[in-house]
Amino acid sequence: MSEPRRSAASNRRVGAAALRLLLGAAERLGAVCGFRRHEVSAEASSTSPATLDRYMLETRSGMLVETLRLAKFSAITHGAVALTVVGLFWNAASPTYLVALLLVIGTTSIGAVVAAWRYQGLFAGTPTEAQIERGYRVAGAIALAIGSSWSTMPMVLFPPSDADHRMIVVAIAAGLISDAYVLGPILSVALLFAAPVVLGSFIALATSGDGVAASIAVLLAIYATFVLFSVRSMSLLSFQRILDRVRVSDQNQTIGLLLREFEASTSDWLWETDREGCFDHVSRRVAQVVGRPVEQLQGLPFAELLACGDGGRFGAGAVEMLGFLREGIAFQDLVVELPRAEGTRWWQLSGKPVLDRTGRLAGFRGVGSDVTASRISEARIAFLASYDSLTGLANRALFQDLASAECDRAAEGGGACALLYLDLDGFKVVNDSFGHGAGDQLLRSVAQRLQPFASEGTWIFRLGGDEFAVLHRCRGAAEATLLAGAIIAAVSAPYRIDALAAEIGVSIGIALTPTDALDPGSLLLKADLALYRAKARGKGTFHLFERDLEVSQRTRRELEADLKLALQRREFELHYQPLTALRDGRVVGFEALLRWRSPTRGFVPPAEFIPVAEATGMIVAIGRYALQTACREAARWPAETRIAVNISPIQFRTSEFLRDIAAALEASGLEPGRLEIEITESVFLDKTAITMANLHELRSRGIRIALDDFGTGYSSLSYLAKFPVDKIKIDRSFVRDIDDEGGNLAVIEAILAIAQKLSIAVTAEGVETAEQAQVLRARACNDIQGFLISPARPASEIPDLIARVPKDFHRLFPSSVRTEIQPRLVVGR
Ligand code: C2E
Ligand code: CA
Ligand code: CA
Repeated sequence: MSEPRRSAASNRRVGAAALRLLLGAAERLGAVCGFRRHEVSAEASSTSPATLDRYMLETRSGMLVETLRLAKFSAITHGAVALTVVGLFWNAASPTYLVALLLVIGTTSIGAVVAAWRYQGLFAGTPTEAQIERGYRVAGAIALAIGSSWSTMPMVLFPPSDADHRMIVVAIAAGLISDAYVLGPILSVALLFAAPVVLGSFIALATSGDGVAASIAVLLAIYATFVLFSVRSMSLLSFQRILDRVRVSDQNQTIGLLLREFEASTSDWLWETDREGCFDHVSRRVAQVVGRPVEQLQGLPFAELLACGDGGRFGAGAVEMLGFLREGIAFQDLVVELPRAEGTRWWQLSGKPVLDRTGRLAGFRGVGSDVTASRISEARIAFLASYDSLTGLANRALFQDLASAECDRAAEGGGACALLYLDLDGFKVVNDSFGHGAGDQLLRSVAQRLQPFASEGTWIFRLGGDEFAVLHRCRGAAEATLLAGAIIAAVSAPYRIDALAAEIGVSIGIALTPTDALDPGSLLLKADLALYRAKARGKGTFHLFERDLEVSQRTRRELEADLKLALQRREFELHYQPLTALRDGRVVGFEALLRWRSPTRGFVPPAEFIPVAEATGMIVAIGRYALQTACREAARWPAETRIAVNISPIQFRTSEFLRDIAAALEASGLEPGRLEIEITESVFLDKTAITMANLHELRSRGIRIALDDFGTGYSSLSYLAKFPVDKIKIDRSFVRDIDDEGGNLAVIEAILAIAQKLSIAVTAEGVETAEQAQVLRARACNDIQGFLISPARPASEIPDLIARVPKDFHRLFPSSVRTEIQPRLVVGR
């Protein structure tokens, strides 16, 4: 029992080996016929070997699938042919052979159909290399089996047959040979089938001894050769076709992958339309961007997507883009507005027409991106370029444009326009005292109050800081002043900032086109001059530009220029006015007063140049000079004599002020207790950290502080309690009218009383008459200063003054004759 089984197994092994050998030979023959890998690599030099292998595999698999697809037709054909042969030769040949042939062909055919059915399912997916090899082997085995079976047919049936039957044999053989075409795609399989048939037919014909048969054998050989070559080229074509299909599908996959990658990695998306401009091949990304399902978008006209809801209104750029779609014109980075109920969106689109074979427009393909965010920020930037972010009013840039347009309009006779230049009064105090948050809020409130004045032909601007402007088309100055009055009333009403109440005013300068200026620059300049005058006249008023303002402006400029040079040219000098103790007439100190002797202007009074120096900031350098000179001078005086130096609020506020003081004391060697700083109340209005620090630091260094011009300006007695002050200087305006019936004496008495309570010394300024001195002396005022004693004199006269003044004083007030009235010591200056 075991013997035959072993021999059967070894037989199978031999059979499989033989088949492999045959198949390899056929394959090699196919390879020799010159295609395959060469074909694969010829057109794809840039493809990697691994990809080539994959192409090869997929192509082989594709060819097998094609062959298998034809297998059932082949099987039916072979079955039918076998039946026909049996029928035709039943009486002419051995029935045993015929039945055997039928059985072999039939079972092999059925086997082929079963195998085809099995493998077709497998190869529709992605078969492995081994599976493909097996498929080839099975196909080859079946082809060989059928081919070999048929090869017996001519050899068995041809020799004994008559002429008719021989013709049938030849015809069937020829037909069978041509069946190689059916197996065509795989050359090796076709060869395994056709070669035995050709061989069998040839042997049968050649060995029959018949002359006609021999010549048919030759013909058969020629025919077979022809079939071989045409099958080969058919196989080559099939291979090429399948390879192309594999390659295209591979490339499609790659392109699809790249596109998906592209859409995923950028904010861009791809769109496609057909000939009618309707969406085609809608990607999920497009659906996501549009916010509608893919199915809804597919076939939707692009125009419908661009239009706004019900009205069908198109946004900017849409009509242009639809025109391009219609005309088939490529476009690049076209920004299209999409008006939507939930807010306008912006798309940036590029597109290229797709043409069909005939060159007609077949559709469009392009890229799009949603640029809404960048559009919004661009719009914001554009807004900020023309509008003030704090108040939302138009800014200086827009003012420039509009003022320029109004100037042009006026120049062409289109009508006048007034520029109202507004500057808030007292804004700085609010800003400094309550902080910048409150300041900003106040500015916003002012803008809100100005806004209602805006109308057709009236524009409101914030030019910066607390400066605003109004451009107002009008017939003349009268209309402009009417508006100015209304604005002042509106802005000056009290404000509430959180819990705080604030009051500010506004001053307005007015200039008009075309009478005052015809360009924005000079219009602003002239309104500014008018504003300056409005401020000088008392705040909360308006002033129209006048020619003489320009003249005073010019002289001011010239003064500025001369003042700039005065320090370098040493045109300044200090004079010293004595301060005399009312108790004994002793000179307790001197006030240093600046004198400017200009070579071109002569003597310029401080009241004229100090404000200019303050406005330009030159006061800092000039004040430093005064401080140094005065200290140096005072260091030479008797030890008990003080020096008083005037310090402008501007200078006092600077951070280098304390350093200047220290440097002046250090350089002169003057004892700090002998230096007195004269400041005015306006210093206290500015409660910045620097101001307060400077005040306390001066005191801690032992430097005395005198409050100058007391009684003028803001005059709040509460300052005296709040701030560290050593002395009050009663302003000369009170002293001048001291003997009036009015309240001046009462004011002086009140000041003296408070000062006494707070242990603050009092100096009366501008004492010109002995009566004035007498009244002050009777009320225990500490010191006096004025022309009665002496005007300010050059440093060289100080020793003389120190010696002379007490003598003159005693002559004025001999302790024995207290009521005696003396003539003035010195009159005028
Ligand atoms: P001030 O500080 O009130 O100085 C006193 C002014 O009154 C001086 O005028 C002085 O000459 C004048 N005066 C003195 N006695 C009498 C008098 O009996 N009757 C009248 N009618 N006037 C008298 P001056 O020198 O013209 O100075 C004017 C102002 O200039 C000063 O007022 C002061 O505010 C400022 N100033 C002067 N020198 C300096 C300085 O070095 N620095 C700063 N920042 N300001 C200075
Ligand atoms: Ca003074
Ligand atoms: Ca004074």
